[in-house]
Amino acid sequence: MKAVNESIQTKEPSAHEYIKAVHKKVRDRNPGEPEFLQAAWEVFSSLQPVFEQHPEYVEEGILERISEPERFIAFRVTWEDDAGNVHVNRGYRVQFNSTLGPFKGGLRFHPTLTGSVVKFLGFEQIFKNALTGLPIGGGKGGADFDPKGRSDREIMRFCQSFMTELSRHIGPDIDVPAGDIGVGKREIGYLFGQYKRIRNAFEAGVFTGKNPDNGGSLIRKEATGYGTVYFVEEMLKGEGLSFEGSRVIVSGSGNVSIYAMEKAIEFGATVVACSDSEGYIYDPEGIDVNTVKRLKEVERKRIYHYLEHHPKARFGKDKSDIWKIPCDIALPCATQNEIGREGAEALVDNGVKAIGEGANMPCDEEAVRILTNNHVLFAPAKAANAGGVAVSAMEMSQNSMRYSWTSEEVDEKLHQVMKNIYRNCIETAEKYGAPGNLIAGANIAGFKKVADAMLEHGLN
Ligand code: NDP
Repeated sequence: MKAVNESIQTKEPSAHEYIKAVHKKVRDRNPGEPEFLQAAWEVFSSLQPVFEQHPEYVEEGILERISEPERFIAFRVTWEDDAGNVHVNRGYRVQFNSTLGPFKGGLRFHPTLTGSVVKFLGFEQIFKNALTGLPIGGGKGGADFDPKGRSDREIMRFCQSFMTELSRHIGPDIDVPAGDIGVGKREIGYLFGQYKRIRNAFEAGVFTGKNPDNGGSLIRKEATGYGTVYFVEEMLKGEGLSFEGSRVIVSGSGNVSIYAMEKAIEFGATVVACSDSEGYIYDPEGIDVNTVKRLKEVERKRIYHYLEHHPKARFGKDKSDIWKIPCDIALPCATQNEIGREGAEALVDNGVKAIGEGANMPCDEEAVRILTNNHVLFAPAKAANAGGVAVSAMEMSQNSMRYSWTSEEVDEKLHQVMKNIYRNCIETAEKYGAPGNLIAGANIAGFKKVADAMLEHGLN
């Protein structure tokens, strides 16, 4: 047990004691990082049966190594607004684990981004990427920059300044970013353009989520939302349920939300509510997703403008009240910790049957406990929203081949990946004594895949 803290080496620690000791180390080493510690514990708390069966993971210090990033980069981003004022933001890239392939994970531009949030997202990404079965490691990045209300030129200048520093750390075989909150096709275009200029090389595989006319994969934009619905459909099927005829709530109205709504509607559901950071809309007749698309993707307007086109819909200012609307299935697709105790209790009281996490860690620890204790089917983020990164890995393959698959081909592969992830989670949960528990199944299956490869690579 060489890897365990000296102070607990007086006797062979049990798997439980080992996990607790590493958890303490992680807490001591990362003070003031609540989101990262929350995400780490969420994984650690599933792993006891794995360590009981695999003492070699303890001997090789896998848990300690996996919870420390290979590299954490923070940098200054200086840029000028249209009025000539100088602004300084902080950029980040965490290169968490490259055991299975190049670091892979999105960039987030949001004023609430901190080192802790980047690390939580990067940590999750390791296991999510492993679950896809594709050769990609885990990373994440972004900046505390707020793109809202900025002109195209300001966005371009920010992206160019950000990439001027980031470019020295990434590459098609090193680290391959993509989008996340606040980073869509427009930002990726500017970032890729600046990378190309600095490197004097057209390395399409350095970025995913590119415009399909310019090296991007078809269905990448839709992949996370569609994938979440494909995963949840599998989970429902297992219980003899389906989207057909169900009432669904989808929080957010961004990339993940829009395509989750689209696919849920295609599967026969009525989506009755969605939101943005300023409130939610409720349309009992069913949200018109094309209106939301136009408002958000083209006009960049707020969600309450929906009422101008659909006057029978209602708007509520408190976005967390969305969880008080009765529904059969809830798909939180906005941001972390958007469902806490109150939201979870309201969902349970209204008879919700299933939750599918489209966003990363949208349910806090207490919410997960309340939902699962009340037998609500629960599809955890690292499995349910892995469709985006799966199609990103397919974009990398297409770029390497200098070839493009059709929408139908990509969508079929995505659907198959999501079915495989579901089956893997179910089988793993069963094997490790937690039948039907997709949280345990996802954490253990993702962890084991990386841990086994780390053993093969030796100490590093
Ligand atoms: P977008 O920026 O496209 O959309 C985010 C949406 O959520 C916006 O509508 C935003 O509103 C809204 N929002 C933010 N905070 C809140 C809140 N507290 N309550 C209600 N709505 C809110 O981001 P994405 O759709 O890309 O990402 C959403 C989530 O999915 C994130 O957790 C991300 O990490 C995760 N994810 C994304 C993937 C992808 O492929 N894009 C892949 C896997 C996970 P507003 O415009 O007002 O800010």
